[in-house]
Amino acid sequence: MLSEQVLPDMRRMILRWQGLMIVWGRSISNKVLDIGQFYCPGCGQRCGYALRQDQKWGTIYWVPIVSLEKSEPYVECAECHRTYPEAALRHDHASAQQQYDAQRALEGDLSKMLCEVMALMAGEKHSVSPYLCGLVSNAVRRLLRIEMPEDDILAAIAAAPDQPEALLGNVERQAASLTDRGREIVLRAAVVAAPKPLTESSGTLAIEIGRRLGMKPEAIYATLAEFSVR
Ligand SMILES: [Zn+2]
Repeated sequence: MLSEQVLPDMRRMILRWQGLMIVWGRSISNKVLDIGQFYCPGCGQRCGYALRQDQKWGTIYWVPIVSLEKSEPYVECAECHRTYPEAALRHDHASAQQQYDAQRALEGDLSKMLCEVMALMAGEKHSVSPYLCGLVSNAVRRLLRIEMPEDDILAAIAAAPDQPEALLGNVERQAASLTDRGREIVLRAAVVAAPKPLTESSGTLAIEIGRRLGMKPEAIYATLAEFSVR
């Protein structure tokens, strides 16, 4: 990936010295010092970058001989080709890392919430079946597009609060970071986890989960109706 391209300078001089013709000129080489990913302020997203440095050369017969001056290293976005000072890269790295960490933390919170809700609905807080683990794993994949290892699922269920109210309060807090589709996925996952046919108490609990998710009553009943006819 590392490349060095030589941009010939138009200004060339032909020197004559003791009958010899010497072609003297200048060129600029553009060296890639590093590549990676950064948060490009211009594109507003993570992009590839090349950390570049220009080097001016004095050339004789087009061969770079004398190092004249080096530019400060600068960052070039691979997408928009805007350039930024190297210092911006360090700052952008930090903010990109912050974003990355925040995203991982959010995924952790939401996947744990799914584990808790599904174990509650399944009535399997203390002995978790492989079948429930499979359902949770599917739900996490649908909601977050990540794979949750079985050990993590079991650990999250074991650490879940014993009081349903504490668990529902967590659902209410997490709902803020979910889209309408995400809320529906959580409610469907909860209903899927419950033994069928749904009992009156599991139906009531599902309605409460939907309410804490901030779903409209018609959306909650539509989801429940879908499962009650099966
Ligand atoms: Zn860019």
